[in-house]
Amino acid sequence: MKTKNMIKRSKGYAADVVVFGVVQGVGFRPFIYRLAHEYQYKGWVKNIGFGVEIRIESEKKTDFEGFLKDLQEKKPPLSQIEETIHKSASFQNIKDFTIKKSKPGESFVFISPDISICEECHQEMMNHPDRRFHYPFINCTNCGPRYTIVKSLPYDRKQTTMQGFKMCQDCGTEYTNPHDRRYHAQPIACPVCGPQVSLLLSKTGKEIKGGISKAASLIKQGQILAVKGLGGFHLICDAKNYEVVRHLREIKERKTKPLALMARDLTTIEKYAFLSTEEKRILVSARRPIILLKKKREIKGIAPFLDETAFMLPYTPLHYLLLEHLDLIVATSSNKKDAPIMKEEEEGIGELCDYLLTHDRPIHMRADDSVLRVVNSEPLFLRRARGYVPYPQRVPKELEIPHHILALGGELKDTISLYKNGYVITSQFLGDLDEYQNYKYFKETIHHLTKLFEVKPEVVISDLHPNFHTTRYAQKSGLPHFQVQHHFAHVLAPLLEHKIPPQNKVLGVSLDGYGYGEDGQAWGGEFLLADYSSYKRFAHFKYVPLPGGDLAAKQPWRMAISYIMDAFDSKLPEVKALERISKNKLKTVMSMIEQKINSPLSSSCGRLFDAVSFLAGLSPLEVEFEAEAPMRLESAAKDGKEESYGFSVEGNKLPYQISFTQTIKSLLKDLAKEIPPSLVSAKFHNTLARVIVLMADRARKDYGINTVVFVGGVFLNKKLLQRAKSLLERKKFNVLRTINYSPNDESISIGQIAYGLNKLKTKKG
Ligand code: ZN
Ligand code: ZN
Ligand code: FE
Repeated sequence: MKTKNMIKRSKGYAADVVVFGVVQGVGFRPFIYRLAHEYQYKGWVKNIGFGVEIRIESEKKTDFEGFLKDLQEKKPPLSQIEETIHKSASFQNIKDFTIKKSKPGESFVFISPDISICEECHQEMMNHPDRRFHYPFINCTNCGPRYTIVKSLPYDRKQTTMQGFKMCQDCGTEYTNPHDRRYHAQPIACPVCGPQVSLLLSKTGKEIKGGISKAASLIKQGQILAVKGLGGFHLICDAKNYEVVRHLREIKERKTKPLALMARDLTTIEKYAFLSTEEKRILVSARRPIILLKKKREIKGIAPFLDETAFMLPYTPLHYLLLEHLDLIVATSSNKKDAPIMKEEEEGIGELCDYLLTHDRPIHMRADDSVLRVVNSEPLFLRRARGYVPYPQRVPKELEIPHHILALGGELKDTISLYKNGYVITSQFLGDLDEYQNYKYFKETIHHLTKLFEVKPEVVISDLHPNFHTTRYAQKSGLPHFQVQHHFAHVLAPLLEHKIPPQNKVLGVSLDGYGYGEDGQAWGGEFLLADYSSYKRFAHFKYVPLPGGDLAAKQPWRMAISYIMDAFDSKLPEVKALERISKNKLKTVMSMIEQKINSPLSSSCGRLFDAVSFLAGLSPLEVEFEAEAPMRLESAAKDGKEESYGFSVEGNKLPYQISFTQTIKSLLKDLAKEIPPSLVSAKFHNTLARVIVLMADRARKDYGINTVVFVGGVFLNKKLLQRAKSLLERKKFNVLRTINYSPNDESISIGQIAYGLNKLKTKKG
């Protein structure tokens, strides 16, 4: 029952307030304590499942609305309120205001993501006489490590990796004083009692004097250092020293993959990149992701062949202290090729470089930096991890069920998701599970998250692919097991995120690399009519052979040949780009296609991008990382062009087939006329946008559908996304995409949860 004001009962006024959201472990109860004192309220506050419960009492009539307003507006920066409910209560004449202890196990407790150092702690760290002057582990209830140091819940110091550090008296006083901003700050520490930094020679483990400032001078001298951060080690070097950047690339075995930079401040970033207001806001936010920014000035060796550079700001006190002496460093995650980020020295970090800047606060859960682009003022995640995980996602009310679910995702760029009590928790990016180390990380994460959130899965969900590790894991779990088609799962992720109610049908546009299809083929250019319960394949890109299977994704020229042969009935025209391929290889691949040897069929949009990128002369013969060829094609595309190529839609029943024969033919004509790749790329992007609009028009005409959902890795392409969205919105379509999750395979596990919820809900009636 909602009431505007407290109602007087007998001797005074009283009300119960319940606040739902991320309000635990973020200084919310002490905030309420202080607020209650300001309003001279008596009563108590305590943690409950999903939130906090507050009882307030007053003998005098008081400004209750003001209290509720302050609660919203002055709340601690780490908290996120989803809903506030209040009702009047009977006056009990409580004598003071207290913070009540909650009983363990009584609630589904959320844990905050890791948060960058706050302004107050930063000021304090730089203030000379302060006892935490230059202390690299300063933190408070509003900032510091969370997710990566928590071993189990409730969130309490002894359940974190701070358990080994005994608080000193000064810290203890702050910790127990509700008026102090370090009241119950679990990682509280100071130079007397807390973790310490050390600079080591990696070969011998011998400590070198000088700590952080010595580390900075080594970096200036052209050394590469491994530096321990929140979720793992970074490899760090001077970003403007091309020789050392090249050396770093050798160590990481990456010739071209862009390297992330950490800059001292926004002013430094603005020297090298263009920054919108929104990009600034997200860069300085407490989550501190890496953002891909439009290049202003090239920094040699950092992001070759691309028009963006990846920047972030420092987020730990240690980073700030390091960047006192430096303005721009490479900060790339320290992993061996195809393995997760390293979190302990024992994992072999010392093999990668000569020096380690490390410390003795253990990392319990690894997490990479999050990476995003900003599109139309909203984030577009390339990778969701540190700073965002494990922020929960509420599901639409109609889908809430009492059961617990575990969804395992796909295989590449995997995440897992858990469902419990109306919320989904999605893990950080876990990488490609066909690598053994990543598979271990995947199992480690399932174990950790189910324990942390006390989830006892009753159903497990995986992809349809019979040979994915996730599918096998599910089969071995002994639990009831649902399987969901890859692109269907993709489409359901934004529906869940935007709380689209059941029965709403949408057109899901899944433009992607690969998803195992129900016909056993490699699907990836898909238009699905879908709701939570099922989908119908409305249209797809016409199948072409993938000569060499997986190899076709690594060597874009294979797809170029496949598309040309498809367009020209095996009689190849003269194509400049093909001159780069030896006659032998060309012949082999052509005969593979003709004789259908190791050439599975695919409708992949990612592979179409590969082919076009290669034909336009932009892609390397062999790519180093996924989407390299498409990213180069996107980078090249000239803005402000309206022209496009032809294409055709074939078939008179579902699924329609979209053929790019005309596109390929006209594009080759353009290239033969030496039309620049920038224009060819722009026209190609515009062509795909027109394909999307045409299919949306048909789905509206035939099925009355007005909502179009963009999913799949191809929608990381900003130019395609913006163009297709604006064309559809001009026609009054409602266009949805994931905002808090990546559209790539990281969101498969969320879509799987959506499917599972609906299925279990309808089963129960
Ligand atoms: Zn702080
Ligand atoms: Zn202390
Ligand atoms: Fe996918």
